[in-house]
Amino acid sequence: MRKKLVAGNWKMHGALQQNTALLAHITAAASGMACEIAVCPPYPYLAQAQSALAGSVVALGAQSVSEHACGAFTGEVSASMLAEFGCRYVLLGHSERRGLFGETDAIVAVKFEAAQKAGLLPVLCLGETLGERESGNTMRVIARQLSAVLDRLGVAAMASAVVAYEPVWAIGTGVTASPAQAQEVHAAIRAQVAVLDAGVAEGLRILYGGSVKPQNAVELFGQSDIDGGLIGGAALVADDFLKICLAAN
Ligand code: PEP
Repeated sequence: MRKKLVAGNWKMHGALQQNTALLAHITAAASGMACEIAVCPPYPYLAQAQSALAGSVVALGAQSVSEHACGAFTGEVSASMLAEFGCRYVLLGHSERRGLFGETDAIVAVKFEAAQKAGLLPVLCLGETLGERESGNTMRVIARQLSAVLDRLGVAAMASAVVAYEPVWAIGTGVTASPAQAQEVHAAIRAQVAVLDAGVAEGLRILYGGSVKPQNAVELFGQSDIDGGLIGGAALVADDFLKICLAAN
């Protein structure tokens, strides 16, 4: 039985005072939840979140990481730095990183390796654009994105990772994949891993992300291959985020 995970991606949002209130709300409610909960604030707030989450069951994650361990890479943050600030998870290959910052499948795979070397659990984001869906290429795109990691690191790497299926057309748009559409892709992801190792596939948590709200979370999380959610906009509103966590209980 896979324990569900609900992770909040704050994107480039937050401010010290606002974060204090949001984190206090989440930590106060989290201990009664059956699912695992994580929050992924922007880098400058990791230290604040690390101390706010101390002693709570809420895990900390980051939104990206450098593929390099250290050196002359101005503006970058390494996996070991994230680990030092208490991060358990790191989002990798989010569609905004792929689309706006040129992260290719190959770069994402190198980052995945760097994250695991530092003891972080990568949350590997996969997703097709609207054009790719409409042209019938959804499964091909998802398989290609996943293969980049499997080919580089082997299936064993997926035993210490999480996958998030996030259709690009559903992120921040208010349009969500239907539970059936999401389930179809989640099942395909698990099947691709199962061809290589059935045990790893069975244990792999596959989150859905893309306009998850309290109103649609129960049905999405009720699908057999949906193991929780990666939440953007609704992660900034404590009541909504906690309702989504409850839906995963
Ligand atoms: C995200 O940022 O990963 C995301 C899923 O955003 P939203 O929930 O706002 O669609």
